[in-house]
Amino acid sequence: MLPDPDVAIIGAGPYGLSLAAHLDATNVSFRIFGTPMQTWRTAMLQDSHLKSEGFASCLYEPSGTFSLKAYCNEAGLPFGDTGVPVPLQTFVEYGLAFQKRYVPGLDQRDIVGLAQTQTGFTLRAEDGELFNASRVVVAVGIGRFQYLPPVLAALPAAYASHSAAHRTVDRFAGQDIVVVGAGASAIDMAMELLRVGARVRVVARRRAIQFHDKPAPRTVWDSLTAPMSGLGPGWKSRLCTDAPLVFHAMPEKFRIDVVRRYLGPAACWFTRDAVEGHAAFMLESQIARATVHDGRVHLGLTRADGTVEEITADHVIGATGYRVDLARLPFLSAPLRAKIRLCDTSPALSTKFESSVPGLYFVGITAANSFGPVSRFAYGARFTAPRLSAHLRRTALAAQTASHATVEAKEAVLF
Ligand SMILES: Cc1cc2nc3c(=O)[nH]c(=O)nc-3n(C[C@H](O)[C@H](O)[C@H](O)COP(=O)(O)OP(=O)(O)OC[C@H]3O[C@@H](n4cnc5c(N)ncnc54)[C@H](O)[C@@H]3O)c2cc1C
Repeated sequence: MLPDPDVAIIGAGPYGLSLAAHLDATNVSFRIFGTPMQTWRTAMLQDSHLKSEGFASCLYEPSGTFSLKAYCNEAGLPFGDTGVPVPLQTFVEYGLAFQKRYVPGLDQRDIVGLAQTQTGFTLRAEDGELFNASRVVVAVGIGRFQYLPPVLAALPAAYASHSAAHRTVDRFAGQDIVVVGAGASAIDMAMELLRVGARVRVVARRRAIQFHDKPAPRTVWDSLTAPMSGLGPGWKSRLCTDAPLVFHAMPEKFRIDVVRRYLGPAACWFTRDAVEGHAAFMLESQIARATVHDGRVHLGLTRADGTVEEITADHVIGATGYRVDLARLPFLSAPLRAKIRLCDTSPALSTKFESSVPGLYFVGITAANSFGPVSRFAYGARFTAPRLSAHLRRTALAAQTASHATVEAKEAVLF
């Protein structure tokens, strides 16, 4: 059995792995848990491409040398900082190579229990092993936060599903499929369904589907008026990526509004030709009711002019995104969850990512209401990993002096 670590990281996506790579360069003892790159390997269309540009699709280690670009150069794969869509598969393989190189000690078990003790935390791994940690970083990403509108969530799974449920869509060949949503996930899904020979309707509340422009060579004027950033061109995006601490200092209401509204749904430029003119778009439409009979889904759509239209399909896929809700993290003990102060539905975090429970940290999408939209993308790990690892290193000594509970005490806390 390994000694109890100072820090436990729950989650092995871009955030957890980047933080671990940074902690490894310090004297902080840590353990990291989870299936590496799981969301990217299981909850995205396997033949899709990333939304983010090549230069903004990295994991981060202290030297900054093992970028996606470096990996692609080593592996002889095509790469461009901008304008060359990154295949999901390439990003997954890069993430796994990063893990093997910088986080070889990853423990691939899930954490199924987390409770607070007098001196820190007790964690339970999926096989029942219990251990203590003085500090815990929750880096569990988006997987638990899939959102389906209630009207669809109430349908049997054979008739309605979230886009994250589909790695491939071959089983829908020849069927009538409704995709709900206006963002990249919806359009990627529509494109893939068309490719396998499904008939596709895209239902969205928006008046138009917005596609990003294909990146063009940038002039000096472009750089001045709309500088490039890891979230795309524009001063607002640049502020989001370069000044997350300024964002943190803004009033709570402002932060919540920006995270909700900024970078709304938009599809990738390279998917446009495959869907426009091939899928039917039912815009300014909202699903008012959904039922199943005679083996088909019947949807009542409310249109912008107030009329209601009835359509039927074999299956409806909600590309309706993700909503943070700590109640959906089953490993958080109820007393611990109750102590976490919220900012809307996300934890309220200090400038060091610490929640209102001392020693409990959150990164990635759960930190977006504190640090801004950049935390919704892998690019946010570039700021998060060095900042949080430096804080954990500075405060390690204090944490090490805390005494540890016995295994019996751990049992008492969790059960
Ligand atoms: C369709 C789609 C396309 C996207 N495209 C992009 C893109 O192009 N660029 C971009 O930057 N972002 C993109 N995103 C957002 C992207 O998912 C996040 O930026 C990214 O996943 C954040 O990394 P993360 O480490 O926080 O979380 P994740 O990558 O979700 O990783 C979380 C990790 O936590 C682990 N975990 C969860 N629960 C536990 C537990 N109880 N115990 C142990 N481990 C656990 C999981 O196994 C997983 O490995 C996309 C999202 C979707 C849905």
